[in-house]
Amino acid sequence: MKKIVSLIAIIFTFALFCALVTGCDLAASGDGTTTGSADTSASIVGTTSADVTTQGTTATTTATTKKTTAKTTTVTTKVTTTATTTATTKVTTKATTKATTSTTVTPKNITIFLDPGHGGSDPGVIRTYEGVEYTEADMNLSVALKAKEALEKRGYTVVMSRETDKYVALNSRAPMAQNAGADMFISIHVNSFSTSSVAGPRMYYTHRTGLSYAARDFATYFAEEFDDIRDVPLSTDPDKLAYPNMKLARVASDKDLYGEGKYLAVLAAKDIPSVLIELGFITNDNDLMMLKSKWWQGYVATAIADAVDSAYYDLSYGE
Ligand SMILES: [Zn+2]
Repeated sequence: MKKIVSLIAIIFTFALFCALVTGCDLAASGDGTTTGSADTSASIVGTTSADVTTQGTTATTTATTKKTTAKTTTVTTKVTTTATTTATTKVTTKATTKATTSTTVTPKNITIFLDPGHGGSDPGVIRTYEGVEYTEADMNLSVALKAKEALEKRGYTVVMSRETDKYVALNSRAPMAQNAGADMFISIHVNSFSTSSVAGPRMYYTHRTGLSYAARDFATYFAEEFDDIRDVPLSTDPDKLAYPNMKLARVASDKDLYGEGKYLAVLAAKDIPSVLIELGFITNDNDLMMLKSKWWQGYVATAIADAVDSAYYDLSYGE
């Protein structure tokens, strides 16, 4: 597996180098599944400007204080929600795990910062399909608002970088989360690529040093929950969308994407567990069918809330 990951990293690196230096086609260096991850318009910054190191003390203090929060009802809520949408076996497993470790947790004093990418004058990636124009900014916001609703139902406090179609500067997003005293940062985007066969969700973490959290582990919570959406029964969806055609989510770092020393701007808060979710590829027909579906967006929102729950319990905020 490590060899595969290394190979993918090498392909990524070569493809980026290739694109930067020679302008050749990225698709030529891969098979359509191992390359890709465009959407560079929004997320990348250069070498040092991305780091936000101030206010770390404040955020840490906040998190510590919240560890004393009383525990109560989330387990029941989560199990019920999961039971209606995914496999029974999963419910049983999760119920057992959560119940034994945190029977009385309520995350009401935990703040989740949701960052719908782009907005306003920056629509992100765009695709016109069958005469309808779809923009990344709209889909990001739609998913984020659904995730907000799901998280608030479970007792989390949610703060967003934007709740309408307005412009928010890229480098201001992580500081906004720090100012809000956020405990987790989740940026939501849609990908695009020059080759239409490239598809699937991707969870990006940062390779910055000095993080207060395990970045890859945090991103993996989200990948696992996205993969569970593949189990959603088709009969529950009036659009009859084939969610099982959704590819397994991949976890990668900004180093894999851009090379050593280049970072995703939105993951700049070293003291807040942060992830950038690329929901899927607007340039892939199957992904677009899912991305534009309000039903699928609802499942994604639930997956995000489930991942937050998993991270919350495992990171022992409540202990
Ligand atoms: Zn984006």
